[in-house]
Amino acid sequence: MAVDRDKALGIYISVPFCRSKCTYCNFASGVYPASEHARYVDRIIADLASAGQRARQSGVVLPRTVDSIYLGGGTPSLLAPELIARLFAAIGEGFDVDPRAEITVECAPGQLADGTLAALAAAGVNRVSLGVQSFIDREAHSSGRLHSRAIVADDLRRLRAAGITNLNVDLIAGLAGQTLASWQESLQVLTESAVPHASIYMLEVDEDSRLGREMLAGGARYHAELVPSDETIARMYESAIEVMAAAGLIQYEISNFSRPGFQSLHNLRYWQRRPYLGLGLDASSMLRAATEDRDAEDLGYVLRSSNTDDLTAYLAGEDHPETAWLSPVSQHEEAWFLGLRLNAGVQVAELECEFGARDVGAALHVVRELEKDELLTFANGLVRLTPRGRLLSNEVFQQFLGIAPDGELTTLKQC
Ligand code: SF4
Repeated sequence: MAVDRDKALGIYISVPFCRSKCTYCNFASGVYPASEHARYVDRIIADLASAGQRARQSGVVLPRTVDSIYLGGGTPSLLAPELIARLFAAIGEGFDVDPRAEITVECAPGQLADGTLAALAAAGVNRVSLGVQSFIDREAHSSGRLHSRAIVADDLRRLRAAGITNLNVDLIAGLAGQTLASWQESLQVLTESAVPHASIYMLEVDEDSRLGREMLAGGARYHAELVPSDETIARMYESAIEVMAAAGLIQYEISNFSRPGFQSLHNLRYWQRRPYLGLGLDASSMLRAATEDRDAEDLGYVLRSSNTDDLTAYLAGEDHPETAWLSPVSQHEEAWFLGLRLNAGVQVAELECEFGARDVGAALHVVRELEKDELLTFANGLVRLTPRGRLLSNEVFQQFLGIAPDGELTTLKQC
């Protein structure tokens, strides 16, 4: 029998179209003609229709009830109203969408036409995430963004007027040209906008982005020389936590802050290891094995699959998702580094129930070492990152790889 958290599904749909490419971006997204949008939506609809059959063939459970939907990108708000309507109609045909489901769409400021906004509201979209990144116009522009502060304010007004009040604003600490003072200004504008959710990321420049290549090879086109130091970015992040707390936006994850009751339910499912179906370019799925027989060799495994990031192959149907069964050992590792992302932390008793006291005991040796380094706290059966641990989270998570004694399989239990 499946545990409660496995009974409902989250659907993620990647929409890889952007009006321009941001300098720091390494996502599988790009600028494509609108004619490709319809072909892409056709393919997603076909994948939605065949999802059940593919799940059966793979031996995994695909819950029919959906409690969260997330259209990410890319810039899903670039889709024409009729494509939005077709996409949501197809989801409704294939699944039972819970009337209380959280339905989020990512929008780029200034790239949400009236017709598309109306289509989103009509489709039941109740949450919008705006990729603002900076409220300082010159910083936004030098990063390749096309909006201004005034445009963001107007979008927020239009979204609220359309009845979509569960709003998120993304900011990035570390953009080229950003200073501690300009960062404070962006934070202030964010809090004045009274959105109930904020996602605040520290810039991690990837060598596959244009900015990253310029940082490695030199040049001035993307203002690589104006990217703040790691130390300054860390100070920006720390000040963001203070400003958000003062504004009533409580940090619940390394990069996420919300008013009570406004946490992102869809994103929580990734950290809580609840099942999700990812559709579209570069999207991933995580679904549990269908077997009821947990004594079998494949006991408790989950299937992780990842779609191609090649749009041409995807549209031509010449793609082959990469799939891998995650053993209980891998799930135990993930339980630590995903769970620790949350400020609520990891309940040791829950992990012992799921993975057994022996393996969790091995992980607790790692916890004790990280506690000495003031990266984790361990009290009352709860393990949490310290503020320093949040800054160095990648280093902390690495310590949880290979924690199972002798690499043996653990027996999963139903708790
Ligand atoms: S809008 Fe998002 S996905 Fe598109 S280029 Fe910018 S960062 Fe990348």
